[in-house]
Amino acid sequence: MLNLAHVLIQNQVTLNSMKKITSPYICVKQSSIHSKGIFAKTAISKDTHIIEYVGEKITKRQSEIRAEMVINNHKDNIEQGAVYIFELNSRYDIDGNVPYNTARFINHSCAPNCEAINIRGHIWIVAIRDIEKGEELTYNYGYGWDNYEDHICRCMADNCVGYILANEYWPRLRKKKR
Ligand SMILES: [Zn+2]
Repeated sequence: MLNLAHVLIQNQVTLNSMKKITSPYICVKQSSIHSKGIFAKTAISKDTHIIEYVGEKITKRQSEIRAEMVINNHKDNIEQGAVYIFELNSRYDIDGNVPYNTARFINHSCAPNCEAINIRGHIWIVAIRDIEKGEELTYNYGYGWDNYEDHICRCMADNCVGYILANEYWPRLRKKKR
């Protein structure tokens, strides 16, 4: 009995997680930054939790294997080789490359209006300033220094550093460019 109940609960969880996650604040449209993007359907005030970034919970080891696979499979077209993995905690990551994760369409920007925050094991896209209706939602993907040259940024922000790179590496990049 216990086992059956457990299986039923598991199935329910799977079904629920397969539903496409959406939010009253957003719509998906063609973006001028890259491919599809997420746009504000209404005005959004600062600190609003806009949408959860969901995906498959995987171990760190699975995470390493997947990231390597994506990079190896897309050596010729690095833009297709986007890695959608987020750190959840010291043991698990989230792979957001699943059809029900609408937040995977949010583009990177060097002058973002949102950030991705881990709230008790859930990744939320949160507004870091007031956002007007129709604005494209963006956050800094926070990529590391390794192979940064493979990730060209086309965000068109005045302060664009040219690469998709975490803020903490910007001084290093400026030094290198000089
Ligand atoms: Zn940029």
